[in-house]
Amino acid sequence: MSPEPATQTAIAAVAYRKWACAVCGYIYNEALGDPDEGFPPGTRFEDIPDDWSCPDCGVTKSSFRLLML
Ligand SMILES: [Zn+2]
Repeated sequence: MSPEPATQTAIAAVAYRKWACAVCGYIYNEALGDPDEGFPPGTRFEDIPDDWSCPDCGVTKSSFRLLML
């Protein structure tokens, strides 16, 4: 008896997004993360601590906008 092949309903790899600082234009790319800030590649924006602030101008996450490409 052979086991049924696992039907890989690939756990949807949700496309990485980019977020732009509305104040200075800094772009946070989820695919790249920001190693300088301690975020490895693939870090989702929502996984960034709420007290994180833009490395360029210092505003908080609430000032970032999702970039529609
Ligand atoms: Zn900024």
